[in-house]
Amino acid sequence: MVEQSESESRKLLSRLQAVMAEAAAGQERLDRITHLIADSMGTEVCSIYLLRDADTLELCATQGLAAEAVHVTRMRIGEGLVGRVARQARPINTPNAPAERGFRYMPETGEEAYSSFLGVPIQRLGERLGVLVVQSKEARKFSGDEVYALEVVAMVIAEMTELGAFIGEGAAMSARHQQQVLLRGSVGQEGAAMGHVWLHEPRVVVTKPVSDDPETEAQRLRDAVAQLRLDVDEMLTRAPTADAEQREVLEAYRMFARSRGWMRRMEEDIQRGLSAEAAVEKEQSTARARMETLPDAYLRERLHDLDDLSNRLLRLLTGQGTDTGAELPPDPILVARNIGPAELLDYGRRLKGVVLEEGSVGSHAAIVARALAIPLVIHAKRITTEALNGDPILVDGDEGIVHLRPEETVAQAFRDKLAMQAEAQERYASIRDKPAESLCGTVVSLQMNAGLMADLPSLPSSGAEGVGLFRTELQFLTRNKVPRRGELAALYARVIDAAQGKRVVFRTLDIGSDKVLPYMKPTEEPNPALGWRAIRVGLDKPGVMRMQLQALIRAANGGPLSVMFPFIAQLEEFTAARDHLMREMEREATLGHTLPEKLEIGAMLETPSLAFAPRQFFEMADFISIGGNDLKQFFFAADRENERVRKRYDTLNVSFLTFLEQIVHRCSDTGTPLSFCGEDAGRPLEAICFAAMGLRTLSMRPASIGPVKSILRRVDLREARSVINEARAEGAQSVRPAVMEWLRRQ
Ligand code: PEP
Ligand code: MG
Repeated sequence: MVEQSESESRKLLSRLQAVMAEAAAGQERLDRITHLIADSMGTEVCSIYLLRDADTLELCATQGLAAEAVHVTRMRIGEGLVGRVARQARPINTPNAPAERGFRYMPETGEEAYSSFLGVPIQRLGERLGVLVVQSKEARKFSGDEVYALEVVAMVIAEMTELGAFIGEGAAMSARHQQQVLLRGSVGQEGAAMGHVWLHEPRVVVTKPVSDDPETEAQRLRDAVAQLRLDVDEMLTRAPTADAEQREVLEAYRMFARSRGWMRRMEEDIQRGLSAEAAVEKEQSTARARMETLPDAYLRERLHDLDDLSNRLLRLLTGQGTDTGAELPPDPILVARNIGPAELLDYGRRLKGVVLEEGSVGSHAAIVARALAIPLVIHAKRITTEALNGDPILVDGDEGIVHLRPEETVAQAFRDKLAMQAEAQERYASIRDKPAESLCGTVVSLQMNAGLMADLPSLPSSGAEGVGLFRTELQFLTRNKVPRRGELAALYARVIDAAQGKRVVFRTLDIGSDKVLPYMKPTEEPNPALGWRAIRVGLDKPGVMRMQLQALIRAANGGPLSVMFPFIAQLEEFTAARDHLMREMEREATLGHTLPEKLEIGAMLETPSLAFAPRQFFEMADFISIGGNDLKQFFFAADRENERVRKRYDTLNVSFLTFLEQIVHRCSDTGTPLSFCGEDAGRPLEAICFAAMGLRTLSMRPASIGPVKSILRRVDLREARSVINEARAEGAQSVRPAVMEWLRRQ
């Protein structure tokens, strides 16, 4: 019986292939396919619904329903039984469709006569493409074999859709991957960019989904799987024993590569007429569809592993490597599921932007993107399945939005925005050497954030007065072992040289929890942002921090040196970190090295607790810098990585501003210099409010200096302060609307 149904579906597939091979316009092909399926399955109706846009399905061909309904009947995802199949990405099989929950009668189709309904999703690698339906008058439930056969056919239709087999004159259908797609992700790094897609890992294209030689295909699959197992074993022998995380992933790979269930399902698909690669992809599609619905993060990760493994297997089967011969476009926007910091640095500043399907604000890739000042959008779901190499793409890093294959009007609006920004940058050049002095005569020092040697050339052109934050993580993240002291000292010395006498504040290693160094033993923590990170690691395991401090002292080479410790939460952490530095100074002196002529030791205020530290802390710190990115997340208890809660709390919320004001007071009581170096410092409106609250130093990405300086020079901060005070007195939640209104009136 099974054998018979296998050969039935094989027959169906080879008839399908014959239809595909015939020269026909897209619509005609679709019509023939519905006819053929209805005929083979013995049903009165067969219909193909394809997605017109991200959430509308359209009846594109039918055998049995009213012909007038074709390209007329539409439904949204989730609407009616067809819409439900698309949403759930699972078949619906019922003998009595009208009695089903959500059934929606479409009078124009004349479908009232049909009782049984079987609908299966048409999907490719988790991407919804449409729904394939058969219906019959007789009230019967379709057998498991029939469901399976229809799924296999849907898979082939999906491949054909992907290859553009149904596009043609009169088809009233546009090809997949030609429509505009808008994806909403999260902000990884601000900025806007326009360019063309460069896929970090190009998609594998399956050109031959059907085969009538199951034995050969099964053998090809077995050979490829055998090779895959060898590859995984080899990776495991090469993986460092200390890297528990990497080994865990590889062990999961090994488990999947040896999974009998996986192999059996693929072999069954081949017996039913799929080629080996189509069988792998069918499994991969099912896994991806499941991935979207799994609540358990661990299981989702494992399905990701399976996905990676399937890609490897597909590359083995098709011989398609990651090098497709495609050339990096002149304006590349990198698209990837995720990317490591070293790989991103390899691309370097050639990239105009980066869009990741995963990633996180604190991820290594985000740190590199921030250091390179490349706009980055993360959590852009589906980008790797939607985008093709060379597609036009717009990245709006300010909003976390991506427009793929934008329509001309959208592209034009974006071009206008970029042109305005470029024009503004030119205007800013004229005030580059002027101070950021407000109309009331208050001077605010604007500094830049940096993290790479390559950033330093932008110091003179940006108009920054110095480097308010030099993040030192990158040199550690991009290597596979701890950098040597000599190397670091040489690099820091070059940074100091490039600054040409301007002050550079070096922040010691801010690493740990989710920012795991490749050579550091990972620790599982339930709340990494609240975990063992930054100075906590530095104090518990001081070896690396001490080495870094020595490198900094040597790099200063007798000149001034500013060192800042990250994530200080209480006085004692600061005194302990400071003691380490003082001990290193003594040690360096006894070794005969010249000591810095002036040493400033500061702390980053990133946890609310530090604002309430004893007065001694404020007296002891040579300077304090507010790390607003972290401080805000802890102040509102709203994860900076979590888009849902992150946007809920405005930086200009009165509570936060009042809190900043308190910090300003505490610092002015002790005469401690205070700055703000989180991303918010670079936003003009925020910068005005911070300055109005008394902050006199702001450190930001170089491109923000012009806009911030320009606006500060045009406002009276005393007025801004009274607008803020009024809004506070009136019980406003945020002062933003009031300040915006005041600026508009200027
Ligand atoms: C901050 O938290 O504001 C900050 C500058 O540090 P980072 O963004 O590197 O965590
Ligand atoms: Mg921080």
